[in-house]
Amino acid sequence: MRAIVHFDGDSFFASVEQVLNYRLRGKPIVTGAERGAPTSVSIEAKRLGLSRGMSMREVKIRCPQAIIVPSNYMAYAIFAQRMYSIVRQYTPAVDEYSIDECFADLTDLAESWSGYEEVVRSIKSELENSLGLTFGVGLASSKTLAKAASKANKPAGFTSVPPEQIPEFTANIPIHHVWNLGGASGTHLEKLGVMTAGDFITKDDPWLAMHRFGKAYRDVWLELRGHAIKRFGEKRSGVGSLMHTRTFSPPSESRSFIFSQLSKNVEAVCAKARRHHMRAAGLTFYLKTQEFTYHAVSIELTTPTADPGELLAHIDRRFDEVYVPKVPYRATGITIRSLVPEAAQMDDLFGMAESARERERIIETVDRVNHKYGRNTLFLASSFQALVKDQVKPSKSNKVGHRTLHIPLVGVVQ
Ligand SMILES: [Mg+2]
Repeated sequence: MRAIVHFDGDSFFASVEQVLNYRLRGKPIVTGAERGAPTSVSIEAKRLGLSRGMSMREVKIRCPQAIIVPSNYMAYAIFAQRMYSIVRQYTPAVDEYSIDECFADLTDLAESWSGYEEVVRSIKSELENSLGLTFGVGLASSKTLAKAASKANKPAGFTSVPPEQIPEFTANIPIHHVWNLGGASGTHLEKLGVMTAGDFITKDDPWLAMHRFGKAYRDVWLELRGHAIKRFGEKRSGVGSLMHTRTFSPPSESRSFIFSQLSKNVEAVCAKARRHHMRAAGLTFYLKTQEFTYHAVSIELTTPTADPGELLAHIDRRFDEVYVPKVPYRATGITIRSLVPEAAQMDDLFGMAESARERERIIETVDRVNHKYGRNTLFLASSFQALVKDQVKPSKSNKVGHRTLHIPLVGVVQ
């Protein structure tokens, strides 16, 4: 029996803003001014009925006194690092799940369930005292249960699910709220009359077999029954995150050129991930100005991927949060993180859609061509400007007599 804890920062971005600026404390704060959509709402704002899913217009109508501030992802990332390192003082088995969430395996740190609860309470109070914001915390014998428990009593709650209380605890969790069952999988279960996590765990193996539920569903079912199936330490493979960054000169103000530079970096980092047979569940991209200030955006992905086209579609939507017209930039970079092995991937439990499989085949072909004929033989159209510029200044590797044939693939074009 394992003891697994999940920490989830309450209104994380808005709370960090309140820690950094005392004038914002105790007030309804909404972050996301730069993109015109809320990225986080403070606990006070939630009490006034605001939520992250609203538009800024709705926010202003419902709550004219709300204070709308731009996101500061650098600060959030620093707080996240601090959170992980505090938890690591207790155990090396920490999974950095997202910018405001992590799991830790506490097994063997105590002798009884109440002993584990004590350990959790002390980590929780250390986190809250040193970071200045509160956490929703869940303790259970599997990651899936711990994640559900941390949500059960927000904000600042601590919910412990000792093994004997699993039936009672799961009875109140709608099936859609279960980790990995949020989408089509949850709907599919609902159609079979499984409305809550509790309904699901009363089913048995023959029932799963009869409805052709494969390993992915069975793993969730086992996790909900208290068995720890999801592993810790995906970092054991040696790659926790990968980054690719490049400075260009002269600096540029052109949005399309800068996007193209970033696109080239995204392609490179994705190729690296594919060589390691990993996919990323999160990314941070940044632009660096001529004055050496960094502007970064972090994105969590619902489905891990190493497809540059997919990452660029996400980046495209958020690019204007960091790009400011008429400011000269000199570098772009991307970090992909929360890497998971290709084989261990479990997202859409129905398996990949045909279109996704089709894209996988294209990417595999691209990798083979680039391996055989050299890097950047095939690339995304969005990287075109950056690569053409590289060709103007012949590099050492691009010797006379060796011409690279650039074939842009259809991708995100700016
Ligand atoms: Mg949170």
